[in-house]
Amino acid sequence: MSRPAKPETVLVVTATEQLSPTMIRVSFRSEDLSAFSSSVFTDRYVKLSIPQGPGSTEDAPVLRTYTALNPSVEDGTLDIDFVVHGTEGYAGPWAVAAEPGDTLVALGPGGAYAPDPEADWHLLAGDETALPAIRAALAALPADARGYAVIDIPAPDHEQPLDHPEGVEVTWLVTGDHTHHAAQDAEGHEQILLTAIRDLKWLDGRVHAFVHGEAAVTMHGIRPYLLKERGVPKADVSISGYWRRGRTEETFREWKRELADAESV
Ligand SMILES: Cc1cc2nc3c(=O)[nH]c(=O)nc-3n(C[C@H](O)[C@H](O)[C@H](O)COP(=O)(O)OP(=O)(O)OC[C@H]3O[C@@H](n4cnc5c(N)ncnc54)[C@H](O)[C@@H]3O)c2cc1C
Repeated sequence: MSRPAKPETVLVVTATEQLSPTMIRVSFRSEDLSAFSSSVFTDRYVKLSIPQGPGSTEDAPVLRTYTALNPSVEDGTLDIDFVVHGTEGYAGPWAVAAEPGDTLVALGPGGAYAPDPEADWHLLAGDETALPAIRAALAALPADARGYAVIDIPAPDHEQPLDHPEGVEVTWLVTGDHTHHAAQDAEGHEQILLTAIRDLKWLDGRVHAFVHGEAAVTMHGIRPYLLKERGVPKADVSISGYWRRGRTEETFREWKRELADAESV
């Protein structure tokens, strides 16, 4: 059976803002954001159809996945925070060049997570690709929520203002330049976020966790720690890779399929 087609929303750029040396917020308007009216997930994401650009021999746009922030169906506005990771790829360079009046088509939204208000505490962790979803989760938490947010950034000046409940401790973890980690030190880098999470004082009661970012960091490092070592039930953990070092979104989809196949045997 084929899946129902995802709703398409035409987005028009209204403004751009440099949030940090490697993040750009692009604000959009739409005539019709009704596709978002029943979206309850804080990690709500869209597939953006990105043109391959004048230098390409291919006409077909590529699909790239991004978190849709602050959608207002009433005002027809939403924001997307793009990590700029050099000149490679399509979506990152598109955001750098974006100007008011540019248009994109967004498919979706999808989503799977919103912080459970019944949980005793929350663990939110990831790199800058997950920061938009972590920002949305922190905004949705009740004022008396407890827990931790750990955000992996390349350098101290990449820290951004972030509203959070007083009882949620925010750590900006400086891990170095993500784009240029050489293969030999990539493995060391994979451990840094895990080590920071291990070092947190594990709180009493039921945790609800949201951990996303580079796929080896999340899936090979942090997932076994949470599920096996800490015994957190699968249903209380939202964890996946948002990108994979050395892979484009297309070849990363193959990596995910291979991982799923390997785990199903
Ligand atoms: C559900 C979901 C939500 C996401 N939300 C966001 C979001 O809100 N903001 C955001 O910036 N990203 C987000 N991402 C990640 C984003 O989809 C990927 O980073 C994507 O690969 C970027 O596409 P691209 O065309 O720029 O690069 P691609 O053509 O996919 O890749 C080109 C090269 O750049 C490398 N690369 C890709 N992303 C990064 C990165 N972040 N840092 C360093 N190198 C990289 C690749 O490994 C590859 O070598 C999300 C992903 C998912 C699955």
